[in-house]
This record gives sequence, C-alpha cells and structure tokens, in this order.
Amino acid sequence: MVALKKPQTLIQAVRYFDPETAELYLKSIKWPDGPCCPQCGSVSVGSIKSRRRYQCREKGCRKQFSVLTGTIFEGTHLGLDKWVVAIWMIVNCRNGVSSCEIARTIGCKQQSAWHLLHRVRHCLQQASDRLSGTVEADATYVGGIVKNMNKTRRREVRSRGAWSNKTTVHAVRERASGQVRADVIGDETGETIRGVISRRVEPRSYLHTDASPSYGWASRPFSEYPRSAVNHARDEYVRDNVHVNGCENFFNCLRRAVKGTYVRPAPEHLGAYVDEAVFRFNVRNETEWDRFDAAMRLAVGKRLTYSKLTGGAIR
Ligand SMILES: [Zn+2]
Repeated sequence: MVALKKPQTLIQAVRYFDPETAELYLKSIKWPDGPCCPQCGSVSVGSIKSRRRYQCREKGCRKQFSVLTGTIFEGTHLGLDKWVVAIWMIVNCRNGVSSCEIARTIGCKQQSAWHLLHRVRHCLQQASDRLSGTVEADATYVGGIVKNMNKTRRREVRSRGAWSNKTTVHAVRERASGQVRADVIGDETGETIRGVISRRVEPRSYLHTDASPSYGWASRPFSEYPRSAVNHARDEYVRDNVHVNGCENFFNCLRRAVKGTYVRPAPEHLGAYVDEAVFRFNVRNETEWDRFDAAMRLAVGKRLTYSKLTGGAIR
C-alpha cells in the first residue's frame, strides 16, 4: 500500500482512498498472506490483471474471484472508494447518517445508499460473547414522536394507545470495560428480561439495575445474578458504586441516532439501528481511523452471514 499516513479525518480519507488504494487496503485485510481461493482455499492462484480478478489454479476448481467475493461488497455497482467514504461516515458521525446524506455525499441514488446502509448495519452486528463482573442493566423506550408524524399516521398510532409506536430496548454494560450489548425486546416481563440477561451476561456477574420489578427474579436468594438496585422514584440515582448511568449514556446516544436518521420507527428495523449504535458506542474512545478499520474488518469477515442474507447466493 502507498506509504501515506493513515487518514484521521473525512477529508483525509477521501484523498487517501482512490479506487486502487481502497482495493489494496481491502486486500491487506482479507488476504494478509496473499490471495486465496474462496471455493477450495488453495493459494495457488493466478491473476487476470486486466479485469482485477483471480483464478484458482487447482484442477477441478478453476474458480474466478475478486477481492470483493464473499464480502459485503460483492456484486456492488458502487466503486470501493465510495464505499469506504460511506463507511467512514457511518461509524464516525456521532448520530449516524441517513441514506439521503450518504447519497448526496458520495453521489449515488438514495436507493443505492439505502441498500449500502443496510449491508453495513448487517456487518456491525453485535458480538455474541457474554459480559461479566459488575454489569449494569436497564431498559428504555425508543421511537417516534407522535406530534412529528403526518395526520394519518398520528391518528393510527393514537388509536392504538400512547405507547404503541414505542419500542423497548434493553441494554447491559460491563462496568470494567464500558462495553455495551443491547436488544430490542417485546415486553418487560421478568421472563423476557431474564432471557436477555442470560444471553448477554455470564452467570454470577453482579447486576446493577433500577428498582424495576422486571429484575425481581434476580433479588431472590441464590440467584445466578446477584443484584443491587437504585430507586429512581425516590430520587436515588447513585448509591455507593451502584448505578445504571452507563446504560443511560448509551440510551442517549441511541435516541439521538434514532431521532436524527430514523424516519418511521418499526420494531423490525430497530434491531439494526441498535446494532449500529452499539458498535459506535463501544468504539467511542478510539480514533476515527481505528473505528473505520474495525468496521472494515467486520465487512470483510462477514462472508457466511452475508450469504445467509442473500439466500446462499454467494458464488
Ligand atoms: Zn479453488
């Protein structure tokens, strides 16, 4: 790769990533030891320079492929240089970006930008490892503001009840590392909350929560998740080191992102926004380059999941 300093701002990134550099950068992530066949894994590979493609030399395979094969970029009509700028924006803009903003910035149709965002969010899915130690847990409502909706939608939402367009999001945050995991949940019953906690948090971790009865099960003797609670209703937000302020921080970031870029809240789409917000929150103390680099590594490694998304049509 060209020995330039790694970009730290959007304008540096735009100058740095011409189509060739973007491809070289992608290659350095995907094939640190040189190209390898996505079908049979062989490293005996010839290149077809004119078409920026490779061909496997293995008898009975002979697959042709490019550096984009098996990444979220496969089959794209947009140049890689546009992709990297879009990804830079998505991970480095505090409140996220809308497909309109991306379309205007990189010069493509809004529909293509929407599709791009969809793929990027898909690769920003949360890790499945469980948090441990002291872990804050809290839930909040996220969703549209009724007065900003058009008349028909407002009427529809109001007829279903005041909270019907709000979605509940549950978050857990590891005190030591500051890492967050979050989920869209259907209701706040003890059973549902217990389910997300056991999926996201190692047993015998210490839960810090508010006084919500949804965590009542954790207060029982011999609970797998010993719990301390602060009572917000009694104006108690911090007692000793017990609080859920870290979760509140995350919820504020999520709300700002949803408000800024999310036009019509529908619970089935909110999950992807939550993943995106969690990614940004967890890398918030990194440099712009490191955030971008982390996202690009996920984009390249998302082969299986992407194949699932497209119904297995990866080849
Ligand atoms: Zn092969």
